[in-house]
Amino acid sequence: MWRVAAVRVLQGGGTGASRAASGAAAAQLRRRLENELEDIRGAGTWKSERVIASRQGPHLRLAGGGAGIINFCANNYLGLSSHPEVIRAAVEALEKFGAGLSSVRFICGTQSIHKDLEEKIARFHQREDAILYASCFDANAGIFEALLTPEDAVLSDELNHASIIDGIRLCKANKYRYKHMDMQDLEAKLKEAQKHQLRLVATDGAFSMDGDIAPLREICQLAQKYDALVFIDECHATGFLGPSGRGTDELLGVMDKVTIINSTLGKALGGAAGGYTTGPKPLIDLLRQRSRPYLFSNSLPPAVVGCASKALDLLMESNAIAQSMAAKTQRFRSKMAAAGFTISGKDHPICPVMLGDARLASVMAEDMLNRGIYVIGFSYPVVPKGKARIRVQISAMHSDEDIDRCVEAFTEVGRKHGALS
Ligand code: PLP
Repeated sequence: MWRVAAVRVLQGGGTGASRAASGAAAAQLRRRLENELEDIRGAGTWKSERVIASRQGPHLRLAGGGAGIINFCANNYLGLSSHPEVIRAAVEALEKFGAGLSSVRFICGTQSIHKDLEEKIARFHQREDAILYASCFDANAGIFEALLTPEDAVLSDELNHASIIDGIRLCKANKYRYKHMDMQDLEAKLKEAQKHQLRLVATDGAFSMDGDIAPLREICQLAQKYDALVFIDECHATGFLGPSGRGTDELLGVMDKVTIINSTLGKALGGAAGGYTTGPKPLIDLLRQRSRPYLFSNSLPPAVVGCASKALDLLMESNAIAQSMAAKTQRFRSKMAAAGFTISGKDHPICPVMLGDARLASVMAEDMLNRGIYVIGFSYPVVPKGKARIRVQISAMHSDEDIDRCVEAFTEVGRKHGALS
């Protein structure tokens, strides 16, 4: 963030009367930043941002025209981001509790709605307690350092989300990285880690780039055998995986074997923002005392709390929304496979259409938008070299017709660019 701002200031860009700093150091910084930006453009990995001029939803309007676009790249799995009751709950919370707390939680930033939401999250996941953060990135950044000592060990899947990797970097425990979902490798690393006091296996429940689901049954069995704890990041599972949307642990029948869950309020649960840790009460109590992103960052704004709280109410009232995902995901995956595409992962609404070549993924995504389908190409360094893809995300709010239009557009565009024979 600061880098973007710095570039704007140094370029004299941005809004209003910004001033360009002068002097040799400022000039040197500007050159360095410009070179780095040029490198990113040259590598073909520049990420541009399309501007949405409507609410988030399965159908969008893009700024500068582009109405009636069908959106297949949001994490709005359940379509709750624009659900009327979620919006109303946000407005009510805003009116009753104000715009924000101007404070961290332990000074004067805890309102009754924060406590209610924490209690609701714990109940939803059937855990003892929960703690809110400004994001799941913060929850991941804050947990490992607070929990693990230099005598402990953390064993992490090599494809875990960046925020888990960063969180682990911040802690002083001994670090082991096991091959992606490779249980033999995890077992070897667990054996090696027996010399440490406490062992924690950390994995995404569902991996966002590949749409694959961690083998939690096997992970929990190994954890039991080698006396380890299990931590899962459920950002791409909470609300819709498992019979009642509790997540990967429910889907795979190991709710009583996973010790700690981190997840987000910024995807299926209303999509506003925020994250949390839920698990044993003493752990949550400790995080309130020690976790730096919690201690040194502002409380979640009431409107955001209102959204998430209502999203959880809707999910706890009925599992119909959570269950509506599966058939849609299946429809897309099977029709795309029949058309000749390779879709990575299994049974997850993240459906990566594997293309290999970075430029192909990028031009195909652009051409899909010309046909009214909003999807995004992913290439190195976000995914490994030679494994570029277009990641399609299915939402419960997509109609069968939306899904069929997406498959038709893929088929046309794939033929045009030689991705399909
Ligand atoms: N963990 C995973 C697996 C994610 O995909 C994300 C978001 O992209 C995060 C953590 C961070 O979540 P948040 O947006 O709440 O910071």
